[in-house]
Amino acid sequence: MLSTKQFKKDTFSALNNPQLRGNFKRAMSGLMQKRIAVFPDDQEFHQLREIGRSTRSNGLQKLPELLQQLESNCSKNGIQVFWAETVDQANQLVLEIAQHHNAKSMVKGKSMVSEEMELNSFLEKHGIEALEADLGEYIIQSDHELPSHIIMPAIHKNKEQIAQLFHQKIEPNVFAESAEEMTAIARKVLRSKFYNADIGVSGVNFAVAETGTLCLVENEGNGRFCTTLPPVHIALMGIEKVVEHLEDVPPLLSLLTRSATGQAITTYFNMITSPRREGEKDGPKNVYLILLDNGRTQMYSDQLLRETLMCIRCGACMNHCPVYSRIGGHAYGTTYPGPIGKILTPQMKGLHKAGYLADASSLCGACVEVCPVKIPITEILLRLRQKNEQEKRKISILSPKSWKVRAIDLLWKGWKTVFANPVLYRFNSLVIAKVGNYFPPWMPVLRNWTSVRSSPVFAKKNLHQLVREEGLSYE
Ligand code: SF4
Repeated sequence: MLSTKQFKKDTFSALNNPQLRGNFKRAMSGLMQKRIAVFPDDQEFHQLREIGRSTRSNGLQKLPELLQQLESNCSKNGIQVFWAETVDQANQLVLEIAQHHNAKSMVKGKSMVSEEMELNSFLEKHGIEALEADLGEYIIQSDHELPSHIIMPAIHKNKEQIAQLFHQKIEPNVFAESAEEMTAIARKVLRSKFYNADIGVSGVNFAVAETGTLCLVENEGNGRFCTTLPPVHIALMGIEKVVEHLEDVPPLLSLLTRSATGQAITTYFNMITSPRREGEKDGPKNVYLILLDNGRTQMYSDQLLRETLMCIRCGACMNHCPVYSRIGGHAYGTTYPGPIGKILTPQMKGLHKAGYLADASSLCGACVEVCPVKIPITEILLRLRQKNEQEKRKISILSPKSWKVRAIDLLWKGWKTVFANPVLYRFNSLVIAKVGNYFPPWMPVLRNWTSVRSSPVFAKKNLHQLVREEGLSYE
C-alpha cells in the first residue's frame, strides 16, 4: 500500500538490515563496474546516447500516428490488437482471451507491464495459473515476493538465501551447492510448464510501427519459449514503446543491454511479426497485443513530464542511485523503484497517493548522468515536488488547518533570512551547537541532529583561496 508512513517505516527497516544492505551494495557495485567496462569510449557513449535520445524523442513526438500505424500493420500481419486505458481493462482483456481459448495455465516471460497490472494475482483469483518463467521472477514468485529491481527482480537475495529457498519450496527440495545446480532444477520444472501451458505471456521492449514487429530482449531463452511453444501468445506493452523504423532498434538495443547488465549484446533477441504461418514448424496460432495506457497519456500532455516516457527500462538509474542502493527496491512499495519509479509512479498513481516518492531523492544527478536516453530525472522530480506542494496547499488552504501552511511559509522565510546573512548564520550555528542537546523530546528533528553532529560553520577561506595561498592540492 502506498503511504508516506509505510514508506518511512520500510526505509528504516531496510537501513537496519545489514544482510539486505550488503546484498545490494555488492550487486550494485558489480553492475556499475560492468557498465563502465562496456562503455570504454566516452565519445562513442555520448554519440550513442544522442542517437538513443533523438530516436525516443522522435517516437514520442509522433506517438499518436505511430500507434495507429503499429495497430494497422500488426493487424495486417495477423496480430490482434487491443487497447486498455486502465490496468483493470487490461486484466479483463487477458481474462477474456484466456476464457475464449479455454485456458487454464499461462507461462510468463519478464514483463514490467504485467507487474503494473498485478496480473498474476488477478488470474489466480479467476482460477488460472500464471507461472513466471524468468529465473529471477520464478525465484521471487516461489517466495511470494515482488520484484526489487526492474531488470534483476531477485537481486535482494544472495546465493545462500536462494539455495535455502530451493531447498524449502522447490521440488525436489535439495540443497543446491552452486548457481548451476539451482538453474538446472528450475530449468527442469519450467520445461514441462512451457510444453503444457495454454498461453504464453510476454512484454515488449520495442514495437516497430513501419513493420508491425514486436521486439523482445532477454537472456535466458524463456521469452522465446513463451512466445513459440504455447498455442496462444499475449504481448503486453505500454503505449510509449513504439519506434518508427526498424533501423531505430539497434542503437536502442545496444544502449539497453550495455546500460542494464553491462553486456555488449543480449543472448536472445526475438522479433515477432505474425502468428505461425502456413508451413512453419513452430509459433503460436494466435498472437494478441494489448496496448496499455495507465496514465501515460496524462504524462504525454506536459512537455517536461512527457520525457518520463522515453525510458527504455534499463535500470541503470537504480544501480547508480545512492538512495536505492541503500534501501533496495521493496522499501518503495511500488512496481517501479529507484529514480525512474520516483518519477513514474506519482504520475501513474496520482500525486495525492504517491507524491511523497518525489521527495525521496538527494537530487545528486547520478541517474541523469547514466541514463542512456538522457531523461532529466532531477528536473522532473522538482516539477513533481512543486505540483505536489501546490495540490496539498489547495486542499489545506480551504481546511481549518490552513494556519499550518502559513506557519510553514513563515518558517521558510525565517530560514532564508538566517542563511543569507553570515552574522545571523554564525549566531544560529553557535546557539544550535551549544543548546541543541537540550531541545525537548517533542522537537526530535533538532535533538537528533545535534546529538551526533555540530551545526556546520562558515569556512573562513574557500577552497580556491586555500589552494592558492597555502599550497593545498585538490587531491
Ligand atoms: S530512466 Fe533512464 S536509466 Fe532509468 S531505467 Fe529509464 S532509461 Fe534506464
